[in-house]
Amino acid sequence: MNKPSESTVVSPELGDMSKEEFRRYGHELVDWIADYFERIEDLPVLAAIEPGDLKAQLPTVPPQHGESMPEILADIDKLIVPALTHWVHPSFFAYFATSTSGPGILGEMLCAAFDNKAMLWRTSPASTELEDVTLDWLRQMMGLDGGLSGIIYDTASVSSMHAIAAAREGVEQRVREEGMSGRADLPLLRVYTSEHAHSSIEKAVITLGLGQKGLRKVPTDSEFRMDAKALEAAIEEDKRHGYLPFCIVATVGTTSTSSIDPIREIIPIGEEHAMWLHVDAAYAGSAAVVPELRHILDGCERADSLVVNPHKWLFTPFDLSVLYCRHLDLLRRAFSLVPEYLRTPEQEKVRSGSDYGIQLGRRFRALKLWMVIRYFGHDGLAARIREHCRLAQLFASWIEESPEWELLAPVPFALVCFRACPDREGEPAEIKAKRLDVLNEAIMHGVNASGKALFSHTKLNDKLTLRLSIGNIRTTEKHVRQVWELMNEQLALLK
Ligand code: PLP
Repeated sequence: MNKPSESTVVSPELGDMSKEEFRRYGHELVDWIADYFERIEDLPVLAAIEPGDLKAQLPTVPPQHGESMPEILADIDKLIVPALTHWVHPSFFAYFATSTSGPGILGEMLCAAFDNKAMLWRTSPASTELEDVTLDWLRQMMGLDGGLSGIIYDTASVSSMHAIAAAREGVEQRVREEGMSGRADLPLLRVYTSEHAHSSIEKAVITLGLGQKGLRKVPTDSEFRMDAKALEAAIEEDKRHGYLPFCIVATVGTTSTSSIDPIREIIPIGEEHAMWLHVDAAYAGSAAVVPELRHILDGCERADSLVVNPHKWLFTPFDLSVLYCRHLDLLRRAFSLVPEYLRTPEQEKVRSGSDYGIQLGRRFRALKLWMVIRYFGHDGLAARIREHCRLAQLFASWIEESPEWELLAPVPFALVCFRACPDREGEPAEIKAKRLDVLNEAIMHGVNASGKALFSHTKLNDKLTLRLSIGNIRTTEKHVRQVWELMNEQLALLK
């Protein structure tokens, strides 16, 4: 894509790009993507640019006349690639490492070509029906029961927001009809989640007009799991104040440490108080496709809803989040609104995506997941996730064997939380705590600045904690060994 002079073709006066041009640049682009994956390890994982660098190189006004594809594509190499943080790099270990895959990319291409807006069954029967079938396959692969029906949203943040909206619909307070503001008859509605829950839960509560006061964060135990006794006490206390506890959000695979809330202990509490249980398994839910890890979702047969993100750990290009829900009727009641121009003769017989959320048009996202599942198969997906967990255990074993490093949380999946902890004789605890925070942050920045690997951090028990997340389809033991060496080099330099 580096030869702008080769073509003088610019966009036609009317109509789309010619089919010859589309074919030519389509092939070129697929070749470019294949080459990108081949050379990805030569590129710095973290974009090596300063804020504003890209904007400074782009025209501030739009082109008056169409430009040629070679000119446009040349700018991908020249301007866009250097400004990318390469999530598909096999040494990307930050946040939750995730990656796309060949079949997923091809599915995404088709989705763009079909450009279906799956708002009603008739505007995209294929999308509507393939979504049902694909999500039922995924449900079976995860060992979830048949009482759960799936629906695709873009992200887990949006899936959870819809789950909480359905839960609120279930408390029969006429919120849909009358809203929440200015109502003296409405008690404080409350959602309960652990202090390690993802921030998307708090954002959902804010978005739904429940206010931050409408969320109570429950303490966690020494392994960062929700304390079920504290949950029960919080609900009972709130009830004594006249509040209306209506939803519990438990997490399987928290963001900081991938800890698993005790679903089996939480269930009876929710049931006793007639509350909705939503499980945020956005990250770790995919691990349930591995037969020996299926138990992580034990108890979910009594959950009301669960979110899992195939775009996190199922090699599906961003974005695709699945909400499994036991009460689609409530979700529908919360969101369905059919104006005359959307009325169809078959509407009573079919499921239309727009009835289950705030969006009208919906992308044909099921296609890429269907292609990913068909291409890799259940066994292939499980094998890759199993390997990531093995690599995480291997890395954790190196940490445990070294006196200069320590693990800071259990490793149930493929995320390792740890820090360097070289000793200095006679150092007071407070000084040591500060020194280790500074040292670990410097190790992280040192490795990340090298461009050879990228990982991120969190804070656990007030300690700056390094996080190594393994989830990229291209990551092998070689990459994990390399980042371990880079960390040790930094430690030797900085300690
Ligand atoms: N829930 C958990 C446990 C997460 O770790 C994340 C993101 O990492 C989210 C929700 C939000 O995911 P999304 O970006 O799909 O909204």
